[in-house]
Amino acid sequence: MKPFANNYVSNRVLKLNIGFLLTAGPGHSHDSTFDVPAVRVADDVFLKYIKGPIRLSRAKEGILVQGDLEIGIEDECYRCLEPVSRSINIKIEELYGYQSPGNAEFRLYDDGILDLAPLVRAEALIVLSRGILCRENCKGLCPECGTNLNYETCDCALEGIDLRFAQLKELLDGK
Ligand SMILES: [Zn+2]
Ligand SMILES: [Zn+2]
Repeated sequence: MKPFANNYVSNRVLKLNIGFLLTAGPGHSHDSTFDVPAVRVADDVFLKYIKGPIRLSRAKEGILVQGDLEIGIEDECYRCLEPVSRSINIKIEELYGYQSPGNAEFRLYDDGILDLAPLVRAEALIVLSRGILCRENCKGLCPECGTNLNYETCDCALEGIDLRFAQLKELLDGK
């Protein structure tokens, strides 16, 4: 578990009670604005916030969830490993069915609870797997000495060139 996990609320806040929509019948929808503080979406996904409009529509087969959400991501820059805080937009759209044999994560249970956590987690993992950069042109770490090349320079690349020159010179000199 991450050290700051204490400040993150449980993913219970992502469980929506949609019983009223189920009784309302097909064709009804409900719009709301999501505004969730730092939340532990799953053991591998922590978000600083989730906000934005979300629409729940009652379809024949279940509930269609559509959202245009902004999520706050904290991660390491994948080139230089510095901590990065980013706001990313994700679009979610998924039909939560009464029976989805192939997709048990996105299903409605008898208690009228719809759990958004697996859906938000899946989208966040896509974003995270692409990797987040601290800046557009992050120079990363020197593979030789680990210097953060955004702030400092090192001579490793130069030494590599010097070495090749030396070897070339030796060849030319016939040593
Ligand atoms: Zn970086
Ligand atoms: Zn170096």
